[in-house]
Amino acid sequence: MKNSLLLHTAVPSLLAAMDALTLEPDFQIFFKKAAAAVRTLLGADGTALILLDEETQTFEYKLFEGEQQHLLNAFKGFRFSSTTGISGRVLTSKTSIFTRNYPNAPDAMEQLVDAGLQSNLVIPLISSDKVLGVLASSWFAHTESVADISPQLLTLAERIASQIAVACHREKLEVQLRSLAVIDPLTKLLNRRGVLNCVDDSLEKLHRYNRPFALFFIDVDGLKSANDHWGHETGDILLRDVAQRLSDVVRKGDQIGRLGGDEFLIIAECDESHIDTLAKRFLQALRVPYGKGRKRGRLSGSIGVVLAPQDGVDEINLLRKADAAMYIAKSQGGDRFQRASVKAEEPQNRLISVVDVEGALERNELQLWYQPICQLQDLSVVGFEALLRWCKPDGEVISAGPLIQAFESGRGDLEFRLGNWVLREAARQMRLWNKNSLTPDIHINISPRHFLHPSFLVELQILCEQQQGFGESLIIEITETAMLEDLERAKRIMLRCRDLGARMAVDDFGTGYASLTYIKRLPLDIIKIDRSFVADLPGNRVDWDITKGIVSIAHALGLAVVAEGAEEFEQIGSLRELGCDQVQGYFIHRPMPFNDANDWLQHKPLRIPTRGMLTHTATKNSSAEKIKAAANDELAQQCAKPNLATALYLQQEFNDPRFSITPRGKSRSA
Ligand code: C2E
Ligand code: MG
Ligand code: MG
Repeated sequence: MKNSLLLHTAVPSLLAAMDALTLEPDFQIFFKKAAAAVRTLLGADGTALILLDEETQTFEYKLFEGEQQHLLNAFKGFRFSSTTGISGRVLTSKTSIFTRNYPNAPDAMEQLVDAGLQSNLVIPLISSDKVLGVLASSWFAHTESVADISPQLLTLAERIASQIAVACHREKLEVQLRSLAVIDPLTKLLNRRGVLNCVDDSLEKLHRYNRPFALFFIDVDGLKSANDHWGHETGDILLRDVAQRLSDVVRKGDQIGRLGGDEFLIIAECDESHIDTLAKRFLQALRVPYGKGRKRGRLSGSIGVVLAPQDGVDEINLLRKADAAMYIAKSQGGDRFQRASVKAEEPQNRLISVVDVEGALERNELQLWYQPICQLQDLSVVGFEALLRWCKPDGEVISAGPLIQAFESGRGDLEFRLGNWVLREAARQMRLWNKNSLTPDIHINISPRHFLHPSFLVELQILCEQQQGFGESLIIEITETAMLEDLERAKRIMLRCRDLGARMAVDDFGTGYASLTYIKRLPLDIIKIDRSFVADLPGNRVDWDITKGIVSIAHALGLAVVAEGAEEFEQIGSLRELGCDQVQGYFIHRPMPFNDANDWLQHKPLRIPTRGMLTHTATKNSSAEKIKAAANDELAQQCAKPNLATALYLQQEFNDPRFSITPRGKSRSA
């Protein structure tokens, strides 16, 4: 086509493009109209919109308008570097480039030559002096038939291109605005509106395709205290950290958003069978340690879970139930999840008063439960920690925390009477063990005030005189507070305890002052590393280094180190590597009533050979022969995830003495 002919169509084309820009709210339709105007103006076969992605510095084919749709449709989404091809040149020069013989151009792109491109005109799309991309008009007919482009035609095409650039800019802003409306600026997750839109989408999918989904309503525990101690800036950093950790563990396709404050919502397509695994994964991600020294703290999460359609099929109902379930999880101490449809266990940590404890003591409802402490090397049992429990007649068991809180806050002498009851009860149960020729160590917690109170030494002396060997079995656990209150007095009492044969342990080490001076000056035997240092091993480098430091100082001072709260096999491995001596935690056993502990000590306990016990073949599902083979090979490689259940199974299955325990004789070095 001749240029003069083309010019005839120019004005209507330009007007059409102008109209489209002002009247057409839909960008795609606008582009179609504007690009058609350019194409007609130039007599080209097609016009493509190629936009620049500033972040990745790549061009991407976005839209195409023209007769040979099929040819360039194949290019939709095609990306190439911003320095490549003619588009690259246009980007730097900010001027249009017409290439009559495209296949011969030095920077012709192979893909376009293969698609049959003969000529093209690439015009920069400039808005506010920035190149947003290019408008590329293409000719697929033979080069000879393509007319030169006159300066007037080019100017007109560039005018339309500049309208397209304005529209692109507007579209970009609109996309940003739309996303701002549903994005939480702090965490960059979906905001309340965004995530609730997703709940609607999930309900829609449930109705249409019968796809069940769960809502995990998450509230972060401990954030308030972090804010109080460290200020809101740190609180915000922690929230961002939590958001990131949760985002890292949600599955592809699941949605996550912040409802506000420290509340998050995760929407996951799943059924009943997945809920446990997912909730545990989220809880794990929420265990965020922060701070140091006395301000050291830990976040965790309380999660309420609802499943649609079982628990409801409308948004309000589902959220209300999830929220209520979350409250139950929180009221039970947090760091747990609660299914909305499952009846919650009675909340434990409702306030317990001194009168309650007094009554429980009178009615003989208090008990000591025992948690094993094992040698790290071979996991042989060396002793137990006695932990206070209130076992109510209706079967409810109240753990030590609320009881201690009650009597430590009371003003009367309950604290001392109860403390002395603990000593006597432990001595009585020790007698039962001794009768069976068992002599485990017994760790007893003594409250700071009780430790410094005269009644403590009096009671201890009586018990040690009455019962031979009791003193030698005894390890008295006190916290740093008790020692620091009156260092000299604490030292005198400790020395008296030693005279009676008992050993002294400092409990929850690392959470208080952790002063080197006092551990050097006091007659201590054992340091118990607080479980907050163990919880994130082996992943947490800081905890790893601190634990390493504590172990080396303790050993330099001739003290043994017990690590508390090991729940995973990996932690056992780490603690061994760090040189700890003994370990206590759910991995070995939870605290249990005396009879169970006695049974466990006599029949069930085990020794796991030091160098890993079994290969991963040793699971309950493995064939007996396979397990036996692995068991016979005591030096089988480190097992993928051995646990006590496996070991007990082996012990029962093969009655193999290598998996049984011989209670250790005590030694001073523990
Ligand atoms: P503690 O002396 O540090 O005792 C260890 C606590 O950690 C126990 O909680 C135990 O159940 C828990 N624990 C053990 N292994 C794990 C684990 O792997 N994971 C987790 N998450 N927890 C684990 P419990 O029995 O609730 O006792 C809490 C605290 O109450 C004790 O901390 C101790 O300071 C105090 N306490 C317990 N019994 C007595 C007592 O008879 N007298 C006094 N004065 N205080 C006591
Ligand atoms: Mg303790
Ligand atoms: Mg402790």
